[in-house]
Amino acid sequence: MDTFTAFILAAIVIGLLVRGYLKKQKKIEELARAAEEKGKLRSDGPQAQHPHIDTTYCIGCAACTMICPEGDVLAMLGGKAVIVNGYKCIGHSLCAEVCPVGAITMVLASPSMGGDTPYLTPENETTIKNMFIVGELGGLALIKNAINQGRECIDNIANRIAAPGSPKSAPGVHDVFIVGAGPGGIAASLRAIEKKLNYLTVDEGEMGGTVAKYPRQKLVMTSPVEFPTYGKFKKTELSKEDLMAFWAKVLQRADFKFHHGEKVEDVKKGEDGIFTITTSKGQHRAQNVILALGKSGSPRKLGVKGEELPKVMYRLIEADHYINKKILVVGGGDSGIEAAMGLGHQVGNEVTLSYRKEAFSRIKERNSIRIEECIRKGKVKVIFNSIPVEFKEKSVLLEVNGKREEIPNDYVWIFAGGEPPTAFLKKIGVGFGNQDLTSTGSKEAKQAKAERKAALSEVSSPAAVG
Ligand SMILES: Cc1cc2nc3c(=O)[nH]c(=O)nc-3n(C[C@H](O)[C@H](O)[C@H](O)COP(=O)(O)OP(=O)(O)OC[C@H]3O[C@@H](n4cnc5c(N)ncnc54)[C@H](O)[C@@H]3O)c2cc1C
Repeated sequence: MDTFTAFILAAIVIGLLVRGYLKKQKKIEELARAAEEKGKLRSDGPQAQHPHIDTTYCIGCAACTMICPEGDVLAMLGGKAVIVNGYKCIGHSLCAEVCPVGAITMVLASPSMGGDTPYLTPENETTIKNMFIVGELGGLALIKNAINQGRECIDNIANRIAAPGSPKSAPGVHDVFIVGAGPGGIAASLRAIEKKLNYLTVDEGEMGGTVAKYPRQKLVMTSPVEFPTYGKFKKTELSKEDLMAFWAKVLQRADFKFHHGEKVEDVKKGEDGIFTITTSKGQHRAQNVILALGKSGSPRKLGVKGEELPKVMYRLIEADHYINKKILVVGGGDSGIEAAMGLGHQVGNEVTLSYRKEAFSRIKERNSIRIEECIRKGKVKVIFNSIPVEFKEKSVLLEVNGKREEIPNDYVWIFAGGEPPTAFLKKIGVGFGNQDLTSTGSKEAKQAKAERKAALSEVSSPAAVG
């Protein structure tokens, strides 16, 4: 090949690469603009916590875009990170952790969302002194966040108790009362043991919280985390059963003080500053209360005729207990899709998934790929634009695009989300409002953020203005 031909070929290849790059950048620009608009309108915008990028400080290293386990939540545009698929963010916070300059802060999705979340101080204290909230109830999902918050919350409580002049423990009064034995409550309990606090943990169900309710053999993704009484827990992927077995072993070794099947119904603070906790089984008293209630609450019901039939369920744990059955799964979120796929893989099952919208919109990338495959292989039949109108003994009635269809049916699973424990929090007097989830990021990143915050407050303080 002569030099001229080589030059022309090289020019063509470079031209194609540049065209491809510009096309990709244009797409990212469109997505970023759409994400910003959607965020404002709360349609398909970020659903819970999500990264906020301070572009003044972003150095364009792309570390955040590469680390995100959900794939394409973030992208690079004009040398800066931007949110392109905010709804896919489930709050891993790894972007904030890897950002070398602390340009990323985890924040709540919108002011309206903040309004639904209890107000918490950076120490996770509610508007009621000595009452704390840890874990998903505070707005941050994920097991590692619940564990970190449970551990840190006890450290704060232990420091307060040890401070000179703090109230002395009284007989019959716990130093701390922990409500909920999911990852947040477990970590708090174990740290309380390490700190030699007089604590008690109760749960209306069993140990394990939401994790115990995951489908059997669900793959749990987590991050290395400091687990009290054990040390660094380094596994990043393991089955639900293995994680539960690990927790059970650590708790047994630590002599966990736990009442299962005891629901907290009310918490009142007396004039002496001591809390009285009323449960389904009696009363307890404590100096401090940690609420680690999670957000699942009670499953949301549809209010459809026949919903009270025993064949209608809201939680699936053992998919392989159901074979050769005609099954309807209602809901188009990750839980519904995972349940439909799990049931669809059992021998002889005919699984129909009913979803009220025209397409799945807020599901994880890998679920989106897997459900497409299940549909292609005939494992799951999806009916979009459909709502159940009646559940009968041997069939279900669906309204599909305005027309009624009756299909044979043995079991129904409904995944319509949960009623968050907001009513309970309001009843006990916890205040709600916006919060800034700044406790994410590396030590250096946190310091950079703190310095910027301090500089800002200096500039805006009356003294500085004067
Ligand atoms: C299907 C699904 C899959 C998920 N997969 C992952 C994953 O792979 N990786 C990951 O990191 N996260 C995952 N998550 C999120 C993770 O499970 C939660 O963020 C985490 O469990 C929250 O922990 P928590 O301690 O705050 O609350 P929870 O785990 O929800 O525990 C709360 C506990 O409080 C108890 N409780 C509530 N109210 C009361 C009351 N009034 N009295 C007594 N007890 C009460 C409940 O019974 C429950 O046991 C998933 C969530 C779901 C739904």
